[in-house]
Amino acid sequence: MKWETVIGLEVHAEMSTDSKIFCGCTTAYGGEPNTHVCPVCSGMPGVLPKLNRSVVEYALRTGFALNCEITKYSKFDRKNYFYPDLPKAYQVSQLYAPICRNGYLEIETGSGKKSIRIREIHMEEDAGKLIHDPRSGNTQMDFNRCGVPLMEIVSQPDFQNAEEVIAYLEKLREILLYLDVCDCKMQEGSIRTDINLSVRPVGGELGVRTETKNMNSFKAIGRAIEHEIKRQIEILEDGGHIVQETRRWDDDKGQSSGMRSKENAQDYRYFPEPDLLPLQIDDMWITQLIETMPELAQQKRERYTHDYGLSEYEAQVLTVHKNICDLFESVSKMSGQPLETAHLLTGEIMRLMNNTNVLPEDLSLDACKLSTLIELVCSGKINRSAYKETVEAVFTDNADPQAYISEKGLLMINDDKTVIEAVNAVLVENNDTAADYRAGKEKVFGFLMGQVMKKLKGKGNPDIAKKILEDALKS
Ligand code: ADP
Ligand code: MG
Ligand code: ZN
Repeated sequence: MKWETVIGLEVHAEMSTDSKIFCGCTTAYGGEPNTHVCPVCSGMPGVLPKLNRSVVEYALRTGFALNCEITKYSKFDRKNYFYPDLPKAYQVSQLYAPICRNGYLEIETGSGKKSIRIREIHMEEDAGKLIHDPRSGNTQMDFNRCGVPLMEIVSQPDFQNAEEVIAYLEKLREILLYLDVCDCKMQEGSIRTDINLSVRPVGGELGVRTETKNMNSFKAIGRAIEHEIKRQIEILEDGGHIVQETRRWDDDKGQSSGMRSKENAQDYRYFPEPDLLPLQIDDMWITQLIETMPELAQQKRERYTHDYGLSEYEAQVLTVHKNICDLFESVSKMSGQPLETAHLLTGEIMRLMNNTNVLPEDLSLDACKLSTLIELVCSGKINRSAYKETVEAVFTDNADPQAYISEKGLLMINDDKTVIEAVNAVLVENNDTAADYRAGKEKVFGFLMGQVMKKLKGKGNPDIAKKILEDALKS
């Protein structure tokens, strides 16, 4: 029997609004436990929620970017359950009228382009965190995360393998970052993915699925998917049945285990949230948001290759992370040299980042200093090797380029007299080699040129040095 895999994703993205969804508490990550809380988000009886307007705007912007239909009359619902990390014993979410529906996202994998349908995006509140203390055996509660706004982006079961899932998550992450609606810090749990997966005989009816919860690393997601496909096929081939359940993936052990049998919507006793009015989204608001949509990475890549003449590769590297992209745009603007800026960032800066294990999100470089350096090299005040050296000093020590260059005496030697002296000295010291050259052995030119540059301590203008050396060898 030949099997095929069917996967649907639910992605929870924490929105990067300043305050929580229904109160004024900060959404800042971390903090001393239970310091980012108030009666509203800690679920005290009798308090009333007040919807944060930015949360709606963030969800709408995401909806536009994901080609969704906007629900003009959207509602909130209560999802009832008891978890110790949610003191109200219900979560305010959206079941019947989510804010966005019927979108799609185009992905690209080794086997080409494919469109993944998005069923809906809804808004909801996050729960707190349980902290297990292995020494005392106690569990403590931290409600700081309670009420942090979440978007849940639910796809249709359109994925067939891990490669497609990862391509989708990467594209989605890029969009959320460029929209500035989520910081996408995987390690802080800003994006968490539930993987719904089933297998079926090729072309057959949809099989029973399992849901693997709260995955927050792309690598682990890939491994969990491969493992779950194998597990389900083995059970089915042995004549068994798949149980619809929620599973947990242990990435260190490379194993998964059942957590609980899967609840249905009915189990949560959803009902319309009585403390919040339905949300009416008027056309003016939509128009205003569409007009102020930020430029997305895909559009930037097209502009860079088209307007600046960058290669596809450079445009790709520069837009891989918004942080790098912002740096590219400010340095290009200041220096007026987009091509040179692109070469610098995709070449020397990337090399330094790799060597020192600096991640794109942690890169912090002074755009003004890089722009100064580009001006210095383009106007011939310093040569390429001095440029490289100074870039490194700016990268590692945040050095001031002008001060560094004058301190190290790196200004380029452009005056002919100094170069002529150096050339003459080299020709005297390398009399035999010069003779070889004159006798037709042209490839020794490079060696002589190297000697001249060495004599000029690397600061010579290579064009001038080359010309003078050529002339001297002719005479
Ligand atoms: P629930 O309400 O239990 O969360 P949904 O019907 O909302 O379930 O679906 C949740 C996710 O599971 C969606 O992304 C959907 O595409 C996916 N899904 C639904 N049925 C299957 C299936 N048989 N195999 C794989 N994924 C599925
Ligand atoms: Mg679900
Ligand atoms: Zn609060």
